[in-house]
Amino acid sequence: MTTYKARELLGMDIDEIANLGVNTLTIEFEDGVSVKTTIRKTLYSRFFWQIHQNYDKLPVYSRHFVEHVLSKDGGVLNSGTHISLLAIISKDVIELYKLQDPKSKELLYTLIYQVTNNIYNEINKYIDSSVVTIDILDFLNLSFNAEVLAANTGLKPTPKNIERIHKKILEIISNSDPSNNIVKAIKAKMVNANQVTQCLSIRGYPSEVDGKVLSTPIMSNFTLGLNKLYDLVTESRSAAKSLYFSEAPLEDAEYFARRLQLMAMYVEHLDPVDCGSNDYIKWFIRPPEFNDLNEQVYAGDLKFMKGKWYLNETTNTLKSIEGNEKHLENTTILMRSVLTCKHPDKHTVCAVCFGKLSENINAYANLGHICAATMTRQTSQSVLSNKHYQGSSISTDLHLGEQLSRVFTISKSKTSLLLNSKLKSMLPKLIVTKDSALGLIDALSDDNTDDINPAYVSNIESLGVSLEINGIVITDEYNMLQSNRKCMLAKELIIYIREHKWGLDSSGGFIFDLVDWDYNDDLLIYPKKEYSFSDHSKQVAKIIETGVNDIIKRDDPESPAYTLKELFKLVNSKLNVNISLLEVIIYAVTTPREPGNQDLSRNYTDTILGVSDKVIKGRSLSNLYAYENQSNVIVTPEAFIPDNRPDSVYDIFCLPGEVLSMTERRKS
Ligand SMILES: [Zn+2]
Repeated sequence: MTTYKARELLGMDIDEIANLGVNTLTIEFEDGVSVKTTIRKTLYSRFFWQIHQNYDKLPVYSRHFVEHVLSKDGGVLNSGTHISLLAIISKDVIELYKLQDPKSKELLYTLIYQVTNNIYNEINKYIDSSVVTIDILDFLNLSFNAEVLAANTGLKPTPKNIERIHKKILEIISNSDPSNNIVKAIKAKMVNANQVTQCLSIRGYPSEVDGKVLSTPIMSNFTLGLNKLYDLVTESRSAAKSLYFSEAPLEDAEYFARRLQLMAMYVEHLDPVDCGSNDYIKWFIRPPEFNDLNEQVYAGDLKFMKGKWYLNETTNTLKSIEGNEKHLENTTILMRSVLTCKHPDKHTVCAVCFGKLSENINAYANLGHICAATMTRQTSQSVLSNKHYQGSSISTDLHLGEQLSRVFTISKSKTSLLLNSKLKSMLPKLIVTKDSALGLIDALSDDNTDDINPAYVSNIESLGVSLEINGIVITDEYNMLQSNRKCMLAKELIIYIREHKWGLDSSGGFIFDLVDWDYNDDLLIYPKKEYSFSDHSKQVAKIIETGVNDIIKRDDPESPAYTLKELFKLVNSKLNVNISLLEVIIYAVTTPREPGNQDLSRNYTDTILGVSDKVIKGRSLSNLYAYENQSNVIVTPEAFIPDNRPDSVYDIFCLPGEVLSMTERRKS
């Protein structure tokens, strides 16, 4: 076998290597490792060594060869291989050439871009003989695989079990006949594995456009065909859902993204210095959460806090979070935060307050824009994913917060609430407004118990519970929404009310005395609905933007830090967004507590969370012109009154002269 030194191959161009006339070769790398390999892997890797040609002091290590990445990744080239290899090489370049300053990384970024582009454009010249296709025989071969057949029928098809069956099927397929082209495609991540389960497992539970889960699953799949009328009719809802989600919900998500970028882009720069702030945010680190079956439902705060600096109180030094600090779970740390950064320029955040993620931010990027776009890319994508893939639907479990669990408990079925039996001695009463139980009088005037449909009786967003504690009656209002689902009076409760009657309060609301209530019965039920990413995106928007009605709550000086916690919890319950990015977003919408002043909050002593509509209108007019209703802006007198509007990078297009003179002033 021919042996080549790695540097020798670096001296040849790609065509020369392709024409060497050998299929296998041994490469001696500059870390002393020799690798026996194929010409194809050599060709692929040689594209990456363009970086070594430009950084010629960098040795060609064996870890810069594709074999190194493949050995850790199942041996198959996949859609992430080039990124892993580029990451290893770039890390070595940064360490060897000490490219810590963001501006010094520009050449490296250019090379990364060029390498990726060259592979995409040129590698197809060399891979003709490796192209394969998938046909129906590949599908049938796996469909009738004994293990696949056994897995499909092994568990009773409940929504949760179908999820497990799909997982099992993927596991079986990944380990089956490697010459099957579907198996190859899955391993190379060229097809969406979830779509494969729809062809080889059970299609599962279909759902309606509004997310209501239908109660009978489709037991066939797209290889065996949908041959029953029920299957065809219910599967047609998937098409209706795809159409729906590609319109209004996606538009809403994207328009929110635009508003957020316009607000966040005032945070312009990341300065690679330490502002030295000793104003910390107290952060309680939530551990991972599991459900009854020991399946993880939340990965824990640390996963989303990598790179944040916190104060090690024993040594009084800063330490960064790596993501695996088990000892920090359930403790409160003092965290450096963008919200309390002391950098003299309010448009700039220092690298220490931002966290180690600052190393990933390009020197010329607009920090606020990156942070907003990184988050909303995920919210939009999750809404859009409905258009491409609809798996077996599964209803979301109920979760009671601290407040609700004082009065309710969750039933075994996880879709209804029981009255907490601890309340027995407190003579509980339930208070429901007239508007949320419009069908109740009709349901009560009927004697028949069989045709009570709770969905037609009530639809409750919030209700009151009154309790007698030490002779004093206390009534509290509870928000009953669960992932945007409203609750309903359970059938058992409606029958109970028929027998025990009801009272009315001063505003005509119903009062149900529960003194004879059977605490084992369902009190309130929820419709079975799958999780909606469109609702999630709306909730995220609501936390950041909130309309004028909630201004009073946003007026609390603690609100920026509090809102950060709320946003972090909501976003990362479903997505994966690092806390640093959320901090920048919250900082961008925080304003001083001065009427009419929508400046960035840095250097003001008293700050509150701004209301987005006012923030957009109260900052740079250029951004406002880039937003909407330009004619209104032009005819509003306030638009022409000079005040403390913070400037924006977009101003250069509207007021080039002023911007240039302002830039000079900022420097001095
Ligand atoms: Zn700082």
